[in-house]
Amino acid sequence: MDDDRPPICPVCGVTMVPAELSASKDGGRDWVCLECEETGEACE
Ligand SMILES: [Zn+2]
Repeated sequence: MDDDRPPICPVCGVTMVPAELSASKDGGRDWVCLECEETGEACE
């Protein structure tokens, strides 16, 4: 399984970043979308 590429946010379409790079750690997520984080929407 080729799993070294960051996922694309299904909501806004931008590349997601590792959760550790985000200011807010939301549960046990591996990846977060900074775009949606800024707008306050969840990427689910
Ligand atoms: Zn997003």
